[in-house]
Amino acid sequence: MRVYLAVFALLAAVHCKELFNGRDLVLRIHAESEDQIQILKELERDVDSGLDFWTHAVSTERPVDILVPHSSLNAVKVFLKKNNIPFTVMINNVQELLVREREEMVHNAEMERKSKSFNFAAYHDLETIYSFMDTLVASHSNLISKVNIGRTYENRTMYVLKFSTGGVKKPAIWIDAGIHAREWISHATAVWLADRIATDFMGNRAPVPSILSHMDIFLMIVANPDGYVFTHLSPNPHYRLWRKSRSATSNPKCPGVDLNRNWDAEFGGPGASDDPCAEDYRGPSAQSEIEVKNIVDFIMNHGNFKSFITIHSYMQLLMYPYGYSGTDAPDQPELHDVATSASKALNSWHGTVYKVGSIFHTIKPASGASVDWAYLRGIKYSFAFELRDTGRYGFLLPADQIVSTARETWFALRYIMKYVCDHPY
Ligand SMILES: [Zn+2]
Repeated sequence: MRVYLAVFALLAAVHCKELFNGRDLVLRIHAESEDQIQILKELERDVDSGLDFWTHAVSTERPVDILVPHSSLNAVKVFLKKNNIPFTVMINNVQELLVREREEMVHNAEMERKSKSFNFAAYHDLETIYSFMDTLVASHSNLISKVNIGRTYENRTMYVLKFSTGGVKKPAIWIDAGIHAREWISHATAVWLADRIATDFMGNRAPVPSILSHMDIFLMIVANPDGYVFTHLSPNPHYRLWRKSRSATSNPKCPGVDLNRNWDAEFGGPGASDDPCAEDYRGPSAQSEIEVKNIVDFIMNHGNFKSFITIHSYMQLLMYPYGYSGTDAPDQPELHDVATSASKALNSWHGTVYKVGSIFHTIKPASGASVDWAYLRGIKYSFAFELRDTGRYGFLLPADQIVSTARETWFALRYIMKYVCDHPY
């Protein structure tokens, strides 16, 4: 196997935008044995391979999706065939999807300009999302305020929407999206959710008014603004499929830290890399990243959060702690019941099937993750969503699925929020 791994090192020894060019594609790999899982794990650890693992080798039940630069395609195919690992092509031409997505966005922006309206069924850049937030706050000033929680590495402001009917430091629910920049469906869903919470409150639609009479909701639509802006710079996979922050690292060729491995929760443990070139690079120390530190400071200063929910994509999962350990969290039975009921509520809308479990057992071991941090700080009801899909489009979910994704997510989310409200601790 080492021989074949070395082939990748020769083919793709640089980490730069030139790596992804032309007809890159996404392969879906179906490991059939524990040996094959181990081979794929070793391949993922080899950051010089130039491969981008969209999902990870965990078990034979779960496919592994890998973005492969066109220049490495033959080597990858030879490698998989030599090891008798079956695979299919998931996305035949990534560039084509990216160009189409970009064209749709340009067209939509034009339509929104003309009609002076906001289209929830479209993806938007940071500036447009921030101006959407201003409009929402202006039209619901009795309920919503915009909280500035600090600035990013590239000096952008980080905003949280606060939904509150008054009172000081009421028990609160935290929801964030977009900590991984390329997971655009999470930002778009959070935009829709912000509007939905506001309209349900105005329309006196249960359970929002009763939740907000007891609790505040804090919603951060863009948790990684620098990364998100970077994903909009070009319809080239190097930009659009960027996951991390944009801070400088010890390797000038590899900027960015995985902001969901940087929290003070078993930092440096399994499931996070110390290599700045890795997609799950954890950073030099816990909370070294200003974006994470801003959120941590805000939540700790507030001191009365009862639920912490983070929204990612993709794979249709609803997960709870731990990520860093395979042992059950003390509240595992309750968290599992809540997540199971929430996923049933979600399923009732469009029939979308979610899997429920701990992060460690459902996705992969991950240290330094935000939900573990929250849980370890006493925020019991900590959950992580992985939204649609299960791998037809992966991170490139078409915009015409935004509203249906957001709507079904709302069913799960409002179940969790109501449960939290009904179970004070
Ligand atoms: Zn993510």
